[in-house]
Amino acid sequence: MSWFKQLTRWFRLLLDPRRTYGHTFAEDPPDEVAESVVYLIGDDPATLWSAQFKCPCGCRETIALSLIPRDDPSWRATVTKQGNVTLYPSVWRIKGCRSHFFIRDGRVLWAIEDKRIA
Ligand SMILES: [Zn+2]
Repeated sequence: MSWFKQLTRWFRLLLDPRRTYGHTFAEDPPDEVAESVVYLIGDDPATLWSAQFKCPCGCRETIALSLIPRDDPSWRATVTKQGNVTLYPSVWRIKGCRSHFFIRDGRVLWAIEDKRIA
């Protein structure tokens, strides 16, 4: 079973039309993280080590994800030809706002627990 099917067994995904992300490549983490931008940090686009962005829920927390494969947890960031950023797997904050969401093609998909199925 694919990860996506497995997830949709317990969650439904809600596209949030108000929340989209652009992206920018940076050699170092930014001093100030702008809204609606995913910072892909590394010496060059082939050796990224971190993705940083403001939480889409509006709590204003900066989320920093490791893109280093041997880290646990770690994420993968891809940018399409159209310039839309995808982060995989989902982001599930274990502190603060506890938001659970995907960034796929620059758009935010909220993972909403589906009580009808559980
Ligand atoms: Zn949040």
